[in-house]
Amino acid sequence: AKQKVGLLFGGCSGEHEVSITSARAIASALQQDENKTKYEVLPVYIDKNGTWQSSNLAQQVLESGEPLLLTEKRKTTVVKEDNNNLAVTGFSSLTPSEQNFSYSEIDVWFPILHGPNGEDGTVQGLLSLMNVPFVGSGVLGSALGMDKIAMKMAFTQAGLPQVKYVAVNRSQVYSSPCIFPKLCDDIEAKLDYPCFVKPANLGSSVGIAKVRSRGELEEALDNAASYDRRIVVEAGVTAREVECAVLGNDNPKVSVVGEITFESDFYDYETKYTEGAAQLHIPADLSPDVVTKIQEMATQAFIAVDAAGLSRVDFFYVEETGEVFINEINTLPGFTATSMYPQLWAATGVSFPQLVDNLIGFAVERYNENN
Ligand code: ATP
Ligand code: MG
Ligand code: MG
Ligand code: MG
Repeated sequence: AKQKVGLLFGGCSGEHEVSITSARAIASALQQDENKTKYEVLPVYIDKNGTWQSSNLAQQVLESGEPLLLTEKRKTTVVKEDNNNLAVTGFSSLTPSEQNFSYSEIDVWFPILHGPNGEDGTVQGLLSLMNVPFVGSGVLGSALGMDKIAMKMAFTQAGLPQVKYVAVNRSQVYSSPCIFPKLCDDIEAKLDYPCFVKPANLGSSVGIAKVRSRGELEEALDNAASYDRRIVVEAGVTAREVECAVLGNDNPKVSVVGEITFESDFYDYETKYTEGAAQLHIPADLSPDVVTKIQEMATQAFIAVDAAGLSRVDFFYVEETGEVFINEINTLPGFTATSMYPQLWAATGVSFPQLVDNLIGFAVERYNENN
């Protein structure tokens, strides 16, 4: 019998649309080559309100690529059925008995949710409680991979070189007018301009600012605090941006190294999602020893946060000095056909359909080892 893959996508984060595009690419890969005889896709769409849609609505989003517009008319509600199944009601064209499936039918879950409420361990906690195999990192790896402050601590412990940084709490930013200047003084004492202000738990460069003065620092801290309780301020480096893909569980494999170039000041949201704004160079033009160093650091980072299945590790390479700093790990990186992660594997000899097949294999392997 075919393995039923619960493709979980959408989600309540700023990366909802990216998740839909990733899910479409994965669904199509599950219907290609050998995969089509092995797998059946059961789509589960989490709309922007956080409602789980395991019906023809999910199929509709998967096919059209358009997020569901929750107008009054289409408003849906989730009801708990007696068989522990969530069904969607209130949508006129829906006949739940015909179009819904039971979550218990799903053999393996493939969560492809980016950012908070998906990449951060919350969904992974739910799937762990359900005691089912799922693709990617568990609770710990996901949480450490999402929170940039906790991630940096894990990397420091593993001896991975990073840029200098200061961890800030929202309460310090919203503190009295005599404490806030002290916070900025402390940051200025530790870091030079330009520096980067980031909400600790986001992705796609949302809420990130490059600041060059005290005024910009104050403004950026205030803005980052609107996104997250935890904020990180980092020393800015002038460097090439290179990335490496990791695949596997306890003995993961690494891909070739890729580079991103762009005209903009940094790799911000607009550059990431405007077609043609950024160029991927795979493999990057680097000496073999720099490549080896980056690949080793990528493996160490993967192990340091207890990642599983897949991760994309991002680095800064300072050509003048030969230094390599780790920037971050992303435990559920963008997974569209043109995303860096699958492109790195394609260049390493693993096609998109093979990659998806491997990931499901690693999910089942990890589950079996832990049960
Ligand atoms: P992703 O979409 O990869 O998850 P993210 O939102 O987690 O991204 P970062 O990767 O931390 O954000 O930073 C986004 C971009 O900002 C980097 O790719 C880089 O262009 C720039 N940047 C971040 N930190 C620094 C730094 N310390 N020095 C120089 N540039 C930086
Ligand atoms: Mg990130
Ligand atoms: Mg990310
Ligand atoms: Mg990044």
